[in-house]
Amino acid sequence: MTTSAFTAKCPKCGTRNRVGDHSTGQRPICGRCKEPLPGCACAEWDEDEPIPMAIDFAGFTTVRRRTPWIDLMRCDGCGAYWYVAADTRVADYNIRRLSEQEASGIIDKNVWPTDFDGNPAVWPDADWLRREGYMTLEDWQTRSNVETGQNKPSEGTR
Ligand SMILES: [Zn+2]
Ligand SMILES: [Zn+2]
Repeated sequence: MTTSAFTAKCPKCGTRNRVGDHSTGQRPICGRCKEPLPGCACAEWDEDEPIPMAIDFAGFTTVRRRTPWIDLMRCDGCGAYWYVAADTRVADYNIRRLSEQEASGIIDKNVWPTDFDGNPAVWPDADWLRREGYMTLEDWQTRSNVETGQNKPSEGTR
């Protein structure tokens, strides 16, 4: 079994390493100084500090989608949950690390944190939805989360 490739900054010399598809259980090391690297991409992310849109989120799983630009993501490496909003105006991802409780609120009850509610850039307007063929945002969510719901525990039939 392998994990997906991601970029990791060496904690000792600061070199950015592209960590390839290494086997799980085998720590990647820095190409320059041989220091062991963090086991996942989000180990070096600061709470609340936007990250550049160039990052590809390799090594992450989309757990739930709220809008075309807001997602609940989970790091495959460390299991941390992140609330991620893609602000295309400034080409940044706004991120916040979520507690297990906040993440399960989203997954089980569809209760989302309010962090990005005031940013119109990460919410579709009625024109966008109509153009893409959706009646409402709820319609978009229902259809989008069917496709990304492979991590969803089975709920049985209703
Ligand atoms: Zn190094
Ligand atoms: Zn991580």
